[in-house]
Amino acid sequence: MLEKLIKEYSKKGKFNDYFGDLDIPEKKIESNIPENLLRKDFEFIEVSEIEVIRHFIRLSALNYHLDKGIYPLGSCTMKHNPKVNEEVSSYEGFLYLHPLQKEEDIQGALKLMYELSQFLKEISGMDYVSLQPPAGASGELTAMLVIKKYFIDKKEDRKIVLIPDSAHGTNPASVAMAGFIAQTIKSNSEGMIDLEDLKKNLNEKVACLMITNPNTLGIFERNIKGIAEELHKYGALLYLDGANLNAYCGIHKPGDAGVDIMHFNLHKTFSTPHGGGGPGAGPVGAKNFLVPYLPNPKIEKNGERYYFKYDKESIGKTASFYGNFNVFVKAYTYIRMHGIKGLKKMSQIAVLNASYLRKRLEELGFYCEYKTPTLHEFVLTLKDFKKVDVKALDIAKRLLDYHCHAPTVYFPLIVPEAFMIEPTETEPKEELERFVSAMKRIKEEIKENPEIVKNAPHNTPVRRLDEGKAGRELVVKWG
Ligand SMILES: *Cc1c(COP(=O)(O)O)cnc(C)c1O
Repeated sequence: MLEKLIKEYSKKGKFNDYFGDLDIPEKKIESNIPENLLRKDFEFIEVSEIEVIRHFIRLSALNYHLDKGIYPLGSCTMKHNPKVNEEVSSYEGFLYLHPLQKEEDIQGALKLMYELSQFLKEISGMDYVSLQPPAGASGELTAMLVIKKYFIDKKEDRKIVLIPDSAHGTNPASVAMAGFIAQTIKSNSEGMIDLEDLKKNLNEKVACLMITNPNTLGIFERNIKGIAEELHKYGALLYLDGANLNAYCGIHKPGDAGVDIMHFNLHKTFSTPHGGGGPGAGPVGAKNFLVPYLPNPKIEKNGERYYFKYDKESIGKTASFYGNFNVFVKAYTYIRMHGIKGLKKMSQIAVLNASYLRKRLEELGFYCEYKTPTLHEFVLTLKDFKKVDVKALDIAKRLLDYHCHAPTVYFPLIVPEAFMIEPTETEPKEELERFVSAMKRIKEEIKENPEIVKNAPHNTPVRRLDEGKAGRELVVKWG
């Protein structure tokens, strides 16, 4: 079922019904645009108000989204985004700022950015936080460039970056883009970094280890302090991918555990709608010895006045202007609304929800490859169903028929037929139970009639797409 384009509802004359006839003389608008550049074929779409409203409401309801139900994408923290964030970020004073305005004219905006960076410092235990990178992956790249410059200044030749085999794909990509060489570290049977393998690979050529904590299995690296000490013995640094900060706000500070530099995903931990490629923010926090290398400009405070500061050691800019300001406003609002106690509770409930869901699914016979307790997310392995030729992807598609967004599938790579579930703190128990019922029903279906699962989805506007082809050969319908 393909929806019509808004243009297809258009009919000449509909505007006249709406506005009535012109009762002043028609006048050609004077313009400086040369005649040959003016569009001649332009036609106004003429549709009525009710048609516009219905068209866009219908479109918004076609796709599954967070405002419809559970969206348990592991690692990506798709939580409820309080609508008050949207309201605050569209206050006129924020909305009509121009990035080329002078420092004196944007004191309020600078204050908000300064304070947000102070909050992130407090939450993470780092010494300074630059808000500039516009996404998590961009934060990773920024941090890698900082580390690179630091070692260049120390005249140390370090090309290797160690990455656990459970890492997010952006990690090795950022490493390569910064001109380092990624080297994989194995996970042990508990799903944590294999310390022996780490020690074997450590030497004076290693620039840093990129660690995600809790890692993408949802498992907290218990030995993070020991790992930091090992690295520091060799003069190497510890980088933290902070995408999973949702699991320990107000409970654990990476800075206290020996982390030298890290990134945050404001659009995951601190809300902001980001499905479908919406804007993000990937601030980078660092310990004092790395701070001069962070992007320019930095925002500082002198008495009551906020100002831009430029460090000569800095790697320069990693985003146009100052980053995605609108996302800062949303994160700021979210953090101020919660306070540090509220953020702690947020993390506790995120862990409680995930642990509850894991237990309920385990009762149904689903299980995790690694038995270690998990925090804000967990990864099932659905490899047993391969016996009847049902794959994780099929189950993910069947969930759509039950009005649940599918979890992340086939990631992390170390889990066969991975199903990575993160309910987040914002799902009520009833919604978790609805997800459990859907999984229960699908399990029964696999027994009774696996074809229904293998051919899913059946109730969605489009069935199975060739995702590779869709990505490479864009056919966009537009009006
Ligand atoms: C989401 C995520 C990233 C990348 O962040 P983006 O904002 O999507 O660029 C990196 N690492 C982990 C573990 C993530 O979950």
